[in-house]
Amino acid sequence: MPMSAAFNRRLTDVLPEVVRHFGTPFHLYDEQGLHETAEAFDRAFSALRYREFFAVKALPNPAVLRLLYDHRFGFDCSSPPELSLAARAGAEAGDIMFTSNNTSRAELAAAVELGATVNIDDEAVLDKLADLPRLPDSLCLRVNPGRLASSTTPEGRGHPFLGTPETAKFGIRTDRLPAVCAKARRMGIERFGLHMMLASNSLTAQPLLSTLDLLLEQVLRLRESLGLEVELLNLGGGIGIPYRPQQQTFDIEALGAAIAARLRDWRREHGGDIPLICFESGRYLTGPHGVLATRVVNRMSKWRECAGVDASMSALMRPALYPDAYHHITVPWPRPGPPETVDVTGSLCENNDKFGVDRELPPLAEGDLLLIHDTGAHGHSMGFTYNGRLRPQELLLRTDGGVELIRRAENEQDHFATLRFHPVVLPRPLEPVS
Ligand SMILES: *Cc1c(COP(=O)(O)O)cnc(C)c1O
Repeated sequence: MPMSAAFNRRLTDVLPEVVRHFGTPFHLYDEQGLHETAEAFDRAFSALRYREFFAVKALPNPAVLRLLYDHRFGFDCSSPPELSLAARAGAEAGDIMFTSNNTSRAELAAAVELGATVNIDDEAVLDKLADLPRLPDSLCLRVNPGRLASSTTPEGRGHPFLGTPETAKFGIRTDRLPAVCAKARRMGIERFGLHMMLASNSLTAQPLLSTLDLLLEQVLRLRESLGLEVELLNLGGGIGIPYRPQQQTFDIEALGAAIAARLRDWRREHGGDIPLICFESGRYLTGPHGVLATRVVNRMSKWRECAGVDASMSALMRPALYPDAYHHITVPWPRPGPPETVDVTGSLCENNDKFGVDRELPPLAEGDLLLIHDTGAHGHSMGFTYNGRLRPQELLLRTDGGVELIRRAENEQDHFATLRFHPVVLPRPLEPVS
């Protein structure tokens, strides 16, 4: 169920003019759709005390961040540039979750400075926090359930490509958790949260409910061992979207209801306060509301038929990066004639630079426009410039029908900006260093 009919309609109205004015390729995001999904997300969890911290890495453009901030979503950041973007989108103290890994002292300092909730990924990071002039107001601990997860869900048993919790580089081992919390308390930290992310592009609620269960076990463990009340549970991201036409959408309402029921039962059994439930969804909120528009540059016949387009994997890396990634491709202005089976290919010197393989599409010729669906999350942001294939522009289709350039295409000057064409040399020391 890629690109919605409503988005398609809104885009069709403006597409000829947009292509004429801006040229291709471009990512275009649908403001109306973004608003609607944000509202639906909020409605689904209205029975909970909850907060969404949008995963900035999914779509780090201020125009979109501001839109989501208007829905009172906070931001999940994992690097100083993402922190800066969140701040520039208006985020204030309390609006930012800093979920990084292998974090440096300077990065922690930047997060604490902005009043972020720091989500630490390892015990070693706690020592770095202790050195800062100021401690964060509240500390979240990323938990790695290790083998505990394998009894819960298929996701808990691992992912053929992403690995298992036991091979993951993320998080603090559950057996170390009480000791790490005790240490943080001795440092003077009083408010605690727990974070775990097992789900990845999941179309069912089960992995998120298992995550909740695993975290609730740790809440009890910390209550029993330290008398500590965890105030916040962060279930991470991983709520999926149907990239393939035959797939069902994620039932977000059912997830909200199931979490609320689980928390009520848990409190009835164990007492205490129900923690604030947090999410760091990225893909679910923005993924379906973006398309990559690209034009056929070459119709090529090899051992198979190829339509070479003017975008490359530098604009959308997922199909090349993940073996099972699929992005639906449509032709807005199809030519008459029987469909053909083609590979839709970019220009990089990498054979996996293909947006689609063996796709049945209307007959294609040079100049034809293609829409690659579901590029609103982990699309442009995952881009890179290998091979000198530069990243495309980003446009926002506004609710008033206007189209706004929210990022121009990269040019050679950008690409060369960090190079030094004239030598800047650290002089050799006069005396040899012994
Ligand atoms: C990538 C990531 C997210 C967002 O994941 P989605 O699949 O876009 O929902 C959230 N939290 C963390 C820690 C992540 O690494």
